[in-house]
Amino acid sequence: MSNLQSPGAIARWRGEFTSAATESAFLRDQGGIIRHELTRSLTFCAIFYLGFALADIAHLGQSSRTLALFVARLAIAGVALASIVLTRRSADPGRTAYRAATAFSTLSMLSFLVVAYSRGEPLLHGMSMAIMLIIVYLFIPNRLVNASIVALAASAGFLALVYLSGTVSARHLSTMTMLLLLANLFGAIAALRDARASRRQYWTQQTLINQSVRDPLTGAFNRRHLNAGLLEHAIERARREEAPLTVVMCDLDSFKAINDTHGHQAGDTLLQEFAGLLLSMTRDGADTVVRYGGEEFLLILPNTSLADGHALAERMRLRLAEASIRHGEVPIRATASFGVVSAHYSSRLPGVPGQALIARADEQLYAAKRSGRNRVLGTEYSAP
Ligand code: GH3
Ligand code: MG
Ligand code: MG
Repeated sequence: MSNLQSPGAIARWRGEFTSAATESAFLRDQGGIIRHELTRSLTFCAIFYLGFALADIAHLGQSSRTLALFVARLAIAGVALASIVLTRRSADPGRTAYRAATAFSTLSMLSFLVVAYSRGEPLLHGMSMAIMLIIVYLFIPNRLVNASIVALAASAGFLALVYLSGTVSARHLSTMTMLLLLANLFGAIAALRDARASRRQYWTQQTLINQSVRDPLTGAFNRRHLNAGLLEHAIERARREEAPLTVVMCDLDSFKAINDTHGHQAGDTLLQEFAGLLLSMTRDGADTVVRYGGEEFLLILPNTSLADGHALAERMRLRLAEASIRHGEVPIRATASFGVVSAHYSSRLPGVPGQALIARADEQLYAAKRSGRNRVLGTEYSAP
């Protein structure tokens, strides 16, 4: 498989996941950290801006120009604080932080160009510019593409202003151009390395988490994940939302005979096909499919009534019974039985515990087996 098609692939020059879904998940996961970094960086910058504003007054006296500079610097410090507040309130702090970072970098670069132009001293400002470029690339968390646009545009603007001022020799101007090019290059390379490293680390972590909670054969969640509180969380949510919760136990019929007739590998293929069918027919991010035992699966269906859960199980039963599954050249016919149980939850009552729901679904499943297999039986939960 080509690395570019993998959901964990990282774009070579952008330093972001090529898959938009993975990049969004990464930003959601890292939102708190990005927000924290932005808060720290902008607080630091705001303090510096205020410091420069005071230094202006001390060195330049209280002219109207100093006052204008003071107000401009105060405004930038204000933008920094507003960005911090906005990012804190945002439901998607990672993305908001990136937007705030771009706005803040653009504004501070613009104000720097105005100050540099009005003050003269181009060589001194050239050095400050190089430091500011590094801050834009590395210190303020942002998308590399945004930081690069701001930094390159500001560098070009600065060099154009210095050239137009006519106060710098051609030799100094070319040295200054090289210095700013170097600062851009180093900043971009270091930012790219940082962006790629944090995404690689995130992806490794996600892979490990996935491996620890999923069954390797079928891709369904494993018992360990169920035991870690999967059903209890669904119940807690159903209580909060005062919603019904349905669980389904399903089990392949006469699976031992399929293993005995076609071999264990054919049995494995059937298990994969059945799990794939269950996963594809449930809602991504809402429903849960757990491999409960060998060929037994548990479905947790939040916000689902008994009628809807029963209908879904019936569609799954039909789909399997009609599926043409092959192991190599060998066609395999299979059916499954389903036990469905539903309970309504309320925030005022403790409600049915998870284990009781599973036990009742299991009873329904075995009743379905006893009454001939390849069928769905369901019941509303009532206390025994
Ligand atoms: P019933 O219709 O009553 O459910 O009968 P059954 O044959 O499906 O049930 P039984 O419990 O007798 O047999 C289950 C079989 O599933 C026995 C076991 O070897 C097999 N099995 C469990 N896990 C796996 C697995 O991962 N791969 C394969 N190929 N077989 C498995
Ligand atoms: Mg079975
Ligand atoms: Mg079984």
